[in-house]
Amino acid sequence: MAGPVLDPGLLALLGGGLGLILGSFIGLVADRMPRDEDVIFRPSRCDACGRPLKPWHMIPVLSWLGQRGRAADCGAHLSPRLPAIELAAAALGVWAALHHQGEVWPSLVTAGLGWQLLLIALIDAEHFWLPDVLTWPLALSGLVAAALLTPDMLLGRGIGMVAGFVILWGLGWLYQRLRSRQGLGGGDPFLFGAGGAWVGWIGLPSVLLWGSAAGLSLVLARLILRRPVAMTDRLPFGTFLAAGVWLVWLYGPLGL
Ligand SMILES: [Zn+2]
Repeated sequence: MAGPVLDPGLLALLGGGLGLILGSFIGLVADRMPRDEDVIFRPSRCDACGRPLKPWHMIPVLSWLGQRGRAADCGAHLSPRLPAIELAAAALGVWAALHHQGEVWPSLVTAGLGWQLLLIALIDAEHFWLPDVLTWPLALSGLVAAALLTPDMLLGRGIGMVAGFVILWGLGWLYQRLRSRQGLGGGDPFLFGAGGAWVGWIGLPSVLLWGSAAGLSLVLARLILRRPVAMTDRLPFGTFLAAGVWLVWLYGPLGL
C-alpha cells in the first residue's frame, strides 16, 4: 500500500513524541488494570499521599526530572518506573519511523504493535498475567493490519494465529500431563496466537527462539550475578514472547 512519506527524522520525532504521551497512558494502565481500577475516568492521584495530581505533574519524563524524582506535594520518592516506560514507548515510536524510512502508515502500524507489546510485556513481568482484554485486540489488530497493508499475507497470518494458539496450548497441556504442574500461564497461548496474527505461521518458530533466548539470558544473568535460581522460579514467558514478536515483525524469521 503506497501512502504518504515524511522525512524519516521528522517522523521519528513525531513517533517519539506520541510515544512519550502514550507511554504515560501505558504506565497508568499497567498500574490500574491489575488492581481492577477504572483506566479512563479515575483521576490521577499521588501514589504516596493520594492527593490529586495537577496536569503539569503528569508531563511525560519532564515532570519527573523537574521534581527530581520526588512527588510535588508531599515530597515522597517517585520510582523511575513511569519515566522509564515513557522513554521505552518513545524509543519504540522512533524505531518504527526509522525502520520504515518515513513511510507513515507502516510506521504507525509498527509503532501500534510495539506499544501494545510494551503494555502486555510490562503487566506480565510485574504480575505474571496476560489479560485477554489485551491479547485479543493484539490478534485482531494483526489481522486488520494485514488486510490493510498486505492483503496477500492475510491467510498466512490467520493460520499463524490459530497455529500459535494450538501449539502453545498443546505444549502446556503436555507439560502438565508429564510434570503434574503448570508450566505455562493460561494467557501464553493467546499471546502466541496473537503473535502469529502479526508474523504469520512462518514467523512463529523464530518468535519461540527469540523468546527462549531472552529467557535464558535472564537466567544466565542471574547466575552470573549470583542470584539464586530455582527450577521452579517463574519467568514471565509472555514478556519474552512479546520481545520475540517485535523482532520477528521487524526483521523477519531467522534464516537457517
Ligand atoms: Zn504525595
